[in-house]
Amino acid sequence: MNPGPLMPVEQALASLLAMADSQRLAESENLALDTARQRVLATDLLASLDLPPWANSAMDGYALNLQHWDGQPLPVSQTVFAGQPGVPLQPGSCARIFTGAPLPEGADCVEMQENVEPLEDGRVRFTQALKAGQNIRPQGQENRAGDVLLQAGKRLGPFELAVAAAQGCTQLPVVRRPRVALLSTGDELLEPGTPLRPGCIYNSNRTLLRHWLDALGCEVIDAGILPDRPQQTRLRLEQLQHGTDLILTTGGVSAGDADCLGQVLRDSGRPLFWKLAIKPGKPLTVGYFGQVPVIGLPGNPASALVTFGLLARAYLLRIQGVQEVAPLSVEVPVAFAWPKPGQRREYLRARLENGRAVLYPNQSSGVLLGASWADGLVQVVEGRTLQPGDTAPFIAFSELF
Ligand code: AMP
Ligand code: MG
Repeated sequence: MNPGPLMPVEQALASLLAMADSQRLAESENLALDTARQRVLATDLLASLDLPPWANSAMDGYALNLQHWDGQPLPVSQTVFAGQPGVPLQPGSCARIFTGAPLPEGADCVEMQENVEPLEDGRVRFTQALKAGQNIRPQGQENRAGDVLLQAGKRLGPFELAVAAAQGCTQLPVVRRPRVALLSTGDELLEPGTPLRPGCIYNSNRTLLRHWLDALGCEVIDAGILPDRPQQTRLRLEQLQHGTDLILTTGGVSAGDADCLGQVLRDSGRPLFWKLAIKPGKPLTVGYFGQVPVIGLPGNPASALVTFGLLARAYLLRIQGVQEVAPLSVEVPVAFAWPKPGQRREYLRARLENGRAVLYPNQSSGVLLGASWADGLVQVVEGRTLQPGDTAPFIAFSELF
C-alpha cells in the first residue's frame, strides 16, 4: 500500500494493465456478425477471397483492348452488367460495361461513357487519349486470399464487421464477455422508482456504469446497493467470488468513517494501490478480494466517470486481449486560463467551441451534468499552467466507449 505520496496516473495504469495481463480471458465463442459489435476478435481473421475476386470496371463506360486497337471507332459486341459473368472480348470490338461489372477477358482498359460518342452506324468513337489499366479495379487490389485482415485483439466496430462480411463470413470468434459484478455502496443510495427519503439520493453511478460496461463488451452482474457496513461488505464480496471476472464498486473508498469498501479490502483482501495523483478520482482503490480483482471507484459521479474512463476501461479491454487501450488524445487550444499549477493530474469536462476547449462552469466531482454537456476531457498535467490559446490534450468521450 502507498499511504505516502499519491501514485501517478501512468503508474496506476501500468499496474492495472499488468494485472489485466495476468487475468486474460482465454475462452471464446462464435457470434453472428449482427451480435458481435463491441466485442474483441479472438483469432486473426484471414482473407478467404481475393478482393475484388475479379477485375471489374470502376466506371459506367466501354471496355476495350488497347494493345490491338488502331484508334478507330469500335463496334459494341456485348453488354456486361454488375453481377454477370461476361464473355471474352471479341477481337476488334468493345464491350458496354457498368460499374462493378467483371472485366471481359482480353480487355485492358475502360473508358467512361462521358468520353465516348455513339455513332449512327452503332459503333462508338473514343474522344480522349486512353491508358492501359485505366478505370479498372484489378483482382486482389484490396487484399489477397490468405492476408491477415484483422488481428486477434481487434475491437469489432461497423468497419471490422463489414470487412468480415465482404469475405462472406457470417460469424466471428470473439473473446467471451468479461463478467463484471457492479456494486454501488452508500447508505444514502436509492434506486429510481422508489420515493426519495430525507437525506438520500438516487443511484446514478449504476446506470452510468451498466451502459458503459455494456459498450465495452461486458456482461453486467448487478449486485445492487450495499450499505456502509463492513460485515455486510465482506459478506457480499465473498458471495461474488464465483463466476466473476471483476468486482467493480463505487463509493466507500475515501478515508471517512463510513468508507467500508476500502477498509474491507485493506483488512480482508489484498490491496494493490490506493490514492492517485488524479483529480477528480483520488481515492481510486484497486486490489483483490479472494481471487477476484476489485476496482473500487470513488462515489462522486465525476470521479467515477474519470477513473472508469481512464483506468477501469483500459483494464476491461486488456483482459479481452486489446493491446491498444489508450484513448486517442489530441492537442487542442484552450479558451480558458489555468493559472494555478496542480499537484494532481486534472481532467476537466470541456466542450469544443470554434476549435477551442471551453470548460463546464462547475468542475466539482459531485456534478454529473457537466459530463453530458461536455464533449470530453481536457488533461492538465501536474505542475502545468495554461493561458488562453495554449494547447492541452483533449480526450473525446467517444474515444472512451
Ligand atoms: P463516497 O465515495 O462513498 O464517499 O461518495 C462520495 C459522494 O458520491 C457522496 O456524496 C455520495 O453520496 C455520492 N455517491 C456515492 N455513490 C453514488 C452513486 N452510486 N450515485 C450517485 N452518487 C453517489
Ligand atoms: Mg459512500
